[in-house]
Amino acid sequence: MRSVRLMENIKVMQDKEPWYKNGLKFECQRCGDCCRGEPGIVKVDINDIKKISSYLKIKQEPFTKHYLRIVNGSLSLREFRNGDCFMYDNGCKIYEVRPLQCRTFPFWKSNLRIESDWEKQKHTCPGMDKGRLHDCQEVEKKLKPELDDF
Ligand code: SF4
Ligand code: SF4
Repeated sequence: MRSVRLMENIKVMQDKEPWYKNGLKFECQRCGDCCRGEPGIVKVDINDIKKISSYLKIKQEPFTKHYLRIVNGSLSLREFRNGDCFMYDNGCKIYEVRPLQCRTFPFWKSNLRIESDWEKQKHTCPGMDKGRLHDCQEVEKKLKPELDDF
């Protein structure tokens, strides 16, 4: 009986419309705030490595050696001592092929669980709630890949 009720509750939660059902506005202002300063992790996968190394016209092996590091078992872009991303030089040097993590920001689960997560993140990113409206489907599509939390 208890498990039936639990299943019902889960179903109700799954059926519930997300708080961003009307979409969310976002347009990057290219301020670079999320690329500089505090130390962070920018995860890359094999697809990112292929795309970025080819964009920079560097073979994959030297690219991996020079630009990547391992953090908590995951490959991440290196950063400078001051915390700036290694790819940042007055703007993202690889903007067209930036890693999935950067391409999908700010539509991350950690920013979308509840509305206040989004509101909180807004203090760090001037592009949120500005510019183009991304409809709910589009937001969910960006959420779909392995975006459990970067
Ligand atoms: S903080 Fe926001 S607006 Fe600024 S570069 Fe990052 S994503 Fe774009
Ligand atoms: S890869 Fe580009 S967009 Fe991503 S953090 Fe580095 S500089 Fe910023």
